[in-house]
Amino acid sequence: MIVDARTDAIAADIETDLCIVGGGTAGILLAREFIGQPVQVCLLESGGLTPEPETQDLTRGENVGQPYFPLDTARPRVFGGSGTRWNIPIGGDRLGVRVRPFDPIDFEKRDWVPYSGWPFGRSHLEPFYQRAQAICGVEPASYAVNDWAKERRPLSLPNQDVETIIYKFARVERFVREYPDEVARANNITVCLHSNVLEIETNAAGDCVVRLRASTLEGKKFSVRAKTYVLAAGGIEIPRVLLLSNRTQKNGLGNEHDLVGRFFMEHPHFWAGMLVLAKPEQLVSTALYNEIHSVNGVAVVGKLALTERTLRKEKLLNQNVQLIPRFISPPSARPNSVGLKSARALFAVASDGKKANGWSKHLWNIATDFDSIVVAGAHKIGRTLRGRTRLAAFSFATMMEQVPNPESRVTLSRELDAFGQNRVQLNWKIIPQDIRSAVRTLQIIGGEMEQAGLGQFQPELSGEIPPPNTEGGYHHMGTTRMATNPKMGVVDENCRVHGVGNLFIAGPSVFPTVGYANPVLTIIALTVRLADHLRGFLS
Ligand SMILES: Cc1cc2nc3c(=O)[nH]c(=O)nc-3n(C[C@H](O)[C@H](O)[C@H](O)COP(=O)(O)OP(=O)(O)OC[C@H]3O[C@@H](n4cnc5c(N)ncnc54)[C@H](O)[C@@H]3O)c2cc1C
Repeated sequence: MIVDARTDAIAADIETDLCIVGGGTAGILLAREFIGQPVQVCLLESGGLTPEPETQDLTRGENVGQPYFPLDTARPRVFGGSGTRWNIPIGGDRLGVRVRPFDPIDFEKRDWVPYSGWPFGRSHLEPFYQRAQAICGVEPASYAVNDWAKERRPLSLPNQDVETIIYKFARVERFVREYPDEVARANNITVCLHSNVLEIETNAAGDCVVRLRASTLEGKKFSVRAKTYVLAAGGIEIPRVLLLSNRTQKNGLGNEHDLVGRFFMEHPHFWAGMLVLAKPEQLVSTALYNEIHSVNGVAVVGKLALTERTLRKEKLLNQNVQLIPRFISPPSARPNSVGLKSARALFAVASDGKKANGWSKHLWNIATDFDSIVVAGAHKIGRTLRGRTRLAAFSFATMMEQVPNPESRVTLSRELDAFGQNRVQLNWKIIPQDIRSAVRTLQIIGGEMEQAGLGQFQPELSGEIPPPNTEGGYHHMGTTRMATNPKMGVVDENCRVHGVGNLFIAGPSVFPTVGYANPVLTIIALTVRLADHLRGFLS
């Protein structure tokens, strides 16, 4: 059932078994796991069914680190959450969202990645990844290249350093219409819209949540009491709500070791170089990488990444490269090039049979600016012979893992929102190790493509931090990281907040490290795993 807290009659003190905060991907899919079960679920969602400016304004905040999307554009506050913004065309009139599991190495403690290591390995998560694939409708679960590269072949690369990886696309419709509808129809689930959770109240010892305080923007206040609470409000809002809940623990709930909000990670996205193809027709033979296409009804695309062996050997972070086909003009001569002017001057006097003034200066200009003359010549010859001057190339669009960094963090800003609560401040940091790793990864991938005779690689990364035009992917990860040791993480291996018996977290804020894969498939795998755990806990 769906109720609107603004207009429908709701109890001032709602009692339920399971209270979920946030109706995005994690919150909706967690509720869905309880459909028809002997458990009463109350899902509190700040937004309504469509975006509203007053509600969206609650997400405004300050960016004080690496330039980032304005925070009120980075996390839609509406039923459906960030999923309402997924928009990749995948054929027909369908939209898709990229899905891929993390690699086994992403879960490991790696001596070259500080703070790395999940409490469990990929094999533990495997059955949950299988269930996540079914939820996404991208089965079979395999990501083996040969299962998906049927007619479009992967590149044959000479060394064992670089491999083709497969990305799949799940249909957005499932997440923003079908699953929310299923949840809304369930008799044992109540979705409360326009219900902003303002504070988590605990007992005096701070080890058990006793109720959540919520309000509509119009000032209608109510509370929810449950046996178990799950925060699924996204990787920026979850630390904010914990930090704001400081009635019994002055540094915020779950923050005994000052970890809430730290280790904020994104997947930095940037343009990293270009491969000018030896033969334009290679654009056709590399179609696996160039176009999202359907294989047995599942939309897929290929990308390149380093093999696990190379990541270990070179001690690098995980990263992938998408090949974006384009046609480029070769560099043209600078019109005011001194060398070109001198060449023209000498050519003019030679054709007139006159004596050139300052010929030694002209010769010097020609010698020192010879490149411009060669480029101009090549340009002219190319135009004459081929009638066009465009080269086929791949731009390398890359996205990468970041080193977990406690200084990259979400804190409370001094600015207040419409409820008089502190907004967030985000200090996203990218560190030299991140960029050194990116530069080396690109050298290896570009180098191997050159060795395969595909063309000539032109790197575009100079080591500058951050690389120009760096963006995130709206992936808000790490801010309530998972660790068995409470001094190393906010939640334990079951996503329970350390020290608080009945408070759990769902979503990407629990990731201790983030590989390069987009987060949704891992969010779903962890969410169904959490549902299994809570079923035991609630019965
Ligand atoms: C444009 C875009 C494209 C993306 N593309 C991809 C992709 O291709 N692949 C991929 O893996 N990931 C992608 N992502 C990232 C992905 O969408 C998110 O990582 C994921 O949806 C996070 O899910 P969530 O449930 O944790 O949070 P959200 O989906 O953000 O949901 C949080 C919910 O909590 C509610 N809420 C917040 N605060 C409160 C409060 N105080 N009280 C009550 N409710 C509250 C919000 O209104 C929202 O509905 C993309 C994101 C965007 C924006």
